[in-house]
Amino acid sequence: MEPSSSNKEIRIKGIPASPGIAIGSVLVLSGDSIKVDSNSITPDQIDAQIAKLMQAIEKSKIDLIELREKAEQSFGETDAQIFDTHNLMLDDDLIIQEAIKRIRERLETADNAYFQAVSQFESYLAHTEDEYLRARTSDLVDIKRRVIRHIQGKPVFSFALLENPVIVVAQELTPSDTVNFKRDKILASATELGGRTSHAAIMSRSLKVPSIVGLGSALQALETGDQVIVDGNKGWVIAHPSLQTIAIYEKQRREFAVYQAKLGHIRDLPAKTRDGKKIELSANIEFPEEAQTIGEDGANGVGLYRTEYLFLTRKELPSEEEQYREYARIVQIMGDQPIIIRTLDVGGDKLPTSIKIAPEDNPFLGVRGLRLYLPFVDVFKTQLRAILRASAKGQVRLLLPMITTVSEIKFCKEILAEVKEDLRRGQIPFEENLPVGATIEVPSAAIIADIIAAECDFLSIGTNDLIQYTLAVDRGNENLAYLYQAYNPAILRLIREVIEKGHQQTVWVGMCGEMASDPLATMILIGLGLDEFSVSPISIPLIKEIIRRVDYTECEGLAETVLKCQSVEEVKAVLRTILKQKFEDLLYCQIIAETNQD
Ligand code: PEP
Ligand code: MG
Repeated sequence: MEPSSSNKEIRIKGIPASPGIAIGSVLVLSGDSIKVDSNSITPDQIDAQIAKLMQAIEKSKIDLIELREKAEQSFGETDAQIFDTHNLMLDDDLIIQEAIKRIRERLETADNAYFQAVSQFESYLAHTEDEYLRARTSDLVDIKRRVIRHIQGKPVFSFALLENPVIVVAQELTPSDTVNFKRDKILASATELGGRTSHAAIMSRSLKVPSIVGLGSALQALETGDQVIVDGNKGWVIAHPSLQTIAIYEKQRREFAVYQAKLGHIRDLPAKTRDGKKIELSANIEFPEEAQTIGEDGANGVGLYRTEYLFLTRKELPSEEEQYREYARIVQIMGDQPIIIRTLDVGGDKLPTSIKIAPEDNPFLGVRGLRLYLPFVDVFKTQLRAILRASAKGQVRLLLPMITTVSEIKFCKEILAEVKEDLRRGQIPFEENLPVGATIEVPSAAIIADIIAAECDFLSIGTNDLIQYTLAVDRGNENLAYLYQAYNPAILRLIREVIEKGHQQTVWVGMCGEMASDPLATMILIGLGLDEFSVSPISIPLIKEIIRRVDYTECEGLAETVLKCQSVEEVKAVLRTILKQKFEDLLYCQIIAETNQD
């Protein structure tokens, strides 16, 4: 990379969300807002404005042809068809005539007239009874943005058309943005907003690209084409780096690769403490294709498959057949290893276009996770049928998200029984004893974990949400990241109680939240008796290395010590001392990032 000669080096500190170092050029993704010129034109400008509009529509059509070809090559015919729909919308005479009328009669600029004309149509679609038509609203917004940017002579961005790999810089990335990333085109991502456990950050870890969130408004100084370094280990973005800085980071990048390769040797070794306690170490996956590589990372199965991917990447609901094919594919890859499939957990920051959730003031406290199964019971049933059918082919377990009361589990089990009965009648094979687990991620569920465990076969602690709901801190709010602490004594006590209550009911207790991937926490969690760690694939070698270097008895002692601590600071001080003594050689791991965070 060439250093910038004219600009001074700028360093911006954020929250490290996915490890690794990337050096490359920036692509700034601008947000969703569309700005138009609301000034009036003069009558002599009418013809020129209409010509501008028509040219922009033609340019958009050329884009769509190119996009369709690329989408067909990369994703197949079905996904490419979306661009045919866009083309039809572009050609819609009602919209075009309305825009022209507004230019002529109201003397609106071309961009404003088109904006108003499409918006009218959009609000009609948004209120129609027809679910298919309602789902077309977001397509119209895409079209509107494309045409308006052409009118304004601004570049129109599409991931599908990206030629060279880039570092994506944005105010915020939604999970839908992230699922559209092409692995080979994204070197790293850096965002102004977001916390370590926001879903977009989790997806960046899945994609194994370095990522930093919560960089704040300082990031706005970056422009497309700027050269930057993203240090996902420590949370630094360095813009316009000097030759000397580039050399330092090139060296660190090589060292990080060596460190990762060094940890690679433990891939086939068991996750067992030195004194022989066996720990289940499995992987969290977001995308079906990740199942192919988690064995190479050293995982024993999938501890959390977030099925939302299937629902977020398309405009229509995935059919039972399509879901079945996806689940069966993963089950087949995993062979005799377990795979925990979590049923749909949308709402909060994950909003599917295929299910209409009414706008809410507090989406994280709203219709999220299994709360959606009541109004959309058919969506739930279809997913259960697909999962049950896949269960005939391997070691499937079912996990329910966002449990707050025991009645919710009973409701889900009743639906499950109905679906099983249907399959029996149709003589369709499935696993009769499919294990059912509850995610413990809401404080009420943690407090009654014994009652919930009595209804389940296993519990999985979802710390990402458990921390946000217990401490009343939005997991995506970078300004409150200092409060969002797994090491808050309240959280540690809750985790201890959940494990104890689960064990009292003789069910095993795992953890699928990001705390399980945090090397600072590994010893405490072993000491508290956690049976299973389900971690981001990228963290598996490191967590396994830590498990293999410690004794269960010393972990028990450490857990006892930290549970007596009164504050986050005290807990962290104890942990850092131990980790520095025992794991100093794991130089480039997240321990360093964690240590550098505050
Ligand atoms: C959690 O909340 O810890 C969890 C694993 O679920 P998600 O991150 O998908 O909300
Ligand atoms: Mg959760």
